Amino acid sequence: MAHEVCNDINEWITENVWQPVESWVGRYVEKCQEQDCDWWCACCNKWFCWLAWVVEKVIEWVLVPITKLVVHTVCEIVADVIDLIVNVFVGLWDIVVGIFTWDWARVWDGLVQLVGGVITFVVDIFRIATFGDAIGFLSDWVSQERLRSYVRDKLKEKYRGDELQAIKDALGVDYGEFGFRIATRAIRTFVRSDFRLPGSDVPELIRWHENAGLRLNLKELCGYDYEEFWRRFRPEVVGDNGDVSESDVDDYINSRGASGPTFSIFCMDEGTLGTKISTASEKARALGLLFRWRKETIQVTRPEHVRQKGFDQNGVTALVGFLNTVIGRRLKSVDPAGATADLCNVPTVGVFRYTDKLNGLTVNLQQGACDGLTPNDDSGLTFMDRLPDIVWKYVQVHEMGHYFGLCHVDGVNRIMFTAAADENKSAWDWWLIPDYLYLHGGPVFVFEEATQVWDYIIANFTADCLRTRAK
Ligand SMILES: [Zn+2]
Repeated sequence: MAHEVCNDINEWITENVWQPVESWVGRYVEKCQEQDCDWWCACCNKWFCWLAWVVEKVIEWVLVPITKLVVHTVCEIVADVIDLIVNVFVGLWDIVVGIFTWDWARVWDGLVQLVGGVITFVVDIFRIATFGDAIGFLSDWVSQERLRSYVRDKLKEKYRGDELQAIKDALGVDYGEFGFRIATRAIRTFVRSDFRLPGSDVPELIRWHENAGLRLNLKELCGYDYEEFWRRFRPEVVGDNGDVSESDVDDYINSRGASGPTFSIFCMDEGTLGTKISTASEKARALGLLFRWRKETIQVTRPEHVRQKGFDQNGVTALVGFLNTVIGRRLKSVDPAGATADLCNVPTVGVFRYTDKLNGLTVNLQQGACDGLTPNDDSGLTFMDRLPDIVWKYVQVHEMGHYFGLCHVDGVNRIMFTAAADENKSAWDWWLIPDYLYLHGGPVFVFEEATQVWDYIIANFTADCLRTRAK
């Protein structure tokens, strides 16, 4: 979590310190080059131009990357120490509380957090001390500059004049922090204990609980129990009047909703969502995407929206319908301009479960970068929580990759990797060890994927969207 702040600090410095300096020097050089030579002093006015040009290049290729690297390194070390302290204390707390309450799942999670936290710290400090982190950072910076010029050329093919300039300014193509500041919604779906269908005196939660075919056991939805140990998740039960205990929920179930507290169950708690969205923000920078999040909650009232349909039950069609009716995405078949405008706001919807082994699902509006990613009637994605974070916190940003047209790839060092058996992707890739452990300390998006994302954006997003910076 703390690591995201490092990116924010660097973004702030770029926008508020380097951007004004670079654009001032850039304008001076431009004006200078248009000047005629003063012959009386052997073109002395032009010497300054040459000097200014050198200064411009030194700022761009030396000062900016070096200050960024220094800020990044210092900030990463501080963030690593903070993360270590948090992981050790939270892990120990869970182990102790778990032992005293005989909650072995909690002891296991505490142990994973404690050991995982220490290993992550040691690996990160090793990476920083042996310059792996610095090399990774500088190679990312070079990729970013390449992406910037790729996007500049690509925009020129489609746009002209003032429109082109407005888009380039909004994206920071020439000066400042480059990236598409795009509005993203982090939605947590929730269910209510007092929701009944008209004419029914039993709450829907109870009816679902009693219908074994739906696999919506209320104790599992609340997180007191689990269907499968390796697919546990972290829902949050929030009472209307204070805390809700497991026996309160038993009371609610046994009385069929007649007694017990009224409460909401969220598909994941806020901290869990926070970890995922800061991971997404950090990783998507390599794609030139700067997410501007808005957190929301949305109530779901149908069993198929709690346990979402997977590939076993025509999940793609079901997701198109869900995004349209519950999330408000417009259908291309009904309102093509509306569906295209909707692209400008990415809905990422946290859900409880799927009917099959899915962890997340996306529908992309237009043809993606591979044959498998065919266009759909609307756009958006769902994802679920799963432990442990070290593996599963990347699901949301993986789905966001699909939203921008990205396909599955080989290698666990890549965010777009999938272990799904029918996809036949190999976990091994020769870059795995150096890239994952040494340069980046986790899975990444690569330059080629960034160009695919921008091909998709420039081809399909509206000019209005491109020239607006989401706040
Ligand atoms: Zn996928």
